[in-house]
Amino acid sequence: MLKDQDRIFNNLYGMFDRSLAGARKRGHWDRTAGLMAMGRDKIIQEVKDSGLRGRGGAGFPTGLKWSFMPKESDGRPAYLVVNADESEPGTCKDREIMRHDPHTLVEGCLVASFAMGAHVCYIYLRGEYIREREALQIAIDEAHDAGLIGKNACGTGFDFDCYLHHGAGAYICGEETALLESLEGKKGMPRLKPPFPAGVGLYGCPTTVNNVESIAVVPTILRRGSDWFAGIGRPNNTGTKVFAISGHVEAPCVVEEGMSITLNELLDRHCGGVRGGWKNLKAVIPGGASVPLLPASLCDGAIMDFDWLRDQKSGLGTAAVIVMDQSTDVIKAIWRLSKFYKHESCGQCTPCREGTGWMMRVMDRLVSGDAEPEEIDMLLDVTYQVEGHTICALGDAAAWPIQGLIRHFRDEIEDRIMAKKTGRMSAVAAE
Ligand code: SF4
Repeated sequence: MLKDQDRIFNNLYGMFDRSLAGARKRGHWDRTAGLMAMGRDKIIQEVKDSGLRGRGGAGFPTGLKWSFMPKESDGRPAYLVVNADESEPGTCKDREIMRHDPHTLVEGCLVASFAMGAHVCYIYLRGEYIREREALQIAIDEAHDAGLIGKNACGTGFDFDCYLHHGAGAYICGEETALLESLEGKKGMPRLKPPFPAGVGLYGCPTTVNNVESIAVVPTILRRGSDWFAGIGRPNNTGTKVFAISGHVEAPCVVEEGMSITLNELLDRHCGGVRGGWKNLKAVIPGGASVPLLPASLCDGAIMDFDWLRDQKSGLGTAAVIVMDQSTDVIKAIWRLSKFYKHESCGQCTPCREGTGWMMRVMDRLVSGDAEPEEIDMLLDVTYQVEGHTICALGDAAAWPIQGLIRHFRDEIEDRIMAKKTGRMSAVAAE
């Protein structure tokens, strides 16, 4: 279990003062100028050495991403863009950071921007995050008034400004290039890559897009040292992680824990356990709606980190853990996600635009049992036609939950089809 003194977000529940004075009491904004005095290269090296991997879903090494930014400007400005869109179903971790511990993010924006030579940072917030925007704006204004950001930030001679931008509610704007399009005032449609944002990003300039948590942890990593952060979790899966646990547990919560904690410990220690006991568990989606679910047989002893979950053909994603007990109609649960992804497809590439609709319509039939058994394999085939054949990862996100369902609950799908055919209606879920 993560020790209290190792927690980075020590006001995740809003129990303490979130103002600058409160944040300072908890150790934030401490020696920030000294951190910046380490210099750009040393900061990036420390972040690399800490093993920090992006907390927004893909798990790409943060320090490595930063090192793709040009060392010298060719005349174009550089930008840091913080992805606070957080629209993945089940994911609500960055929200707690922004509304209760906003100074961790503002300080992180300054230090990260400095490391990448960016004098301006934009934080792109999900449209529904009104209170979070208010809390962040207050924190930015406080930091400005105290001389921590703005001209000559922290007395370092580095000029830095941070702006908030509200999205209009489209899930796809959480994809980094769609986010940049939206920030530029256009429709939120993902761009083809390459070029990557580090070369051609916001307004055609070098840009790094990072998740809120990835940025907010950086000052503490630098203050405490990369060894401290790298010492938590398993190799290649290091540090603390904010988990958001929802669904059929006694007490759903958002909690900062050590990476690689077991699922049992996470649920039992922080959520009061699975509703009705561990034996009542049916499945868990371990990383937000886009990753394949794990059946109960794989959940006992499951290690909550990038590599272990990838080896089980699932993923840590955003670490939004959705717990489903035996009362769950798992086919219907995945159908609901299919409906979501179909709705959120931006429509610019054919496999996603058409495929998400096809997948949802077959899922419609599987939920009611009005399908032929061959349609299960046909659906699986469609998911493989979509996966990896689209401009952005939404196609994969729509395909993977269905693949997980068929991989682990094929019997249940077949049973429902047979029940419908034979009139054994009790096996058919309420529609
Ligand atoms: Fe748009 Fe879907 Fe293509 Fe992404 S995969 S660009 S959401 S159509």
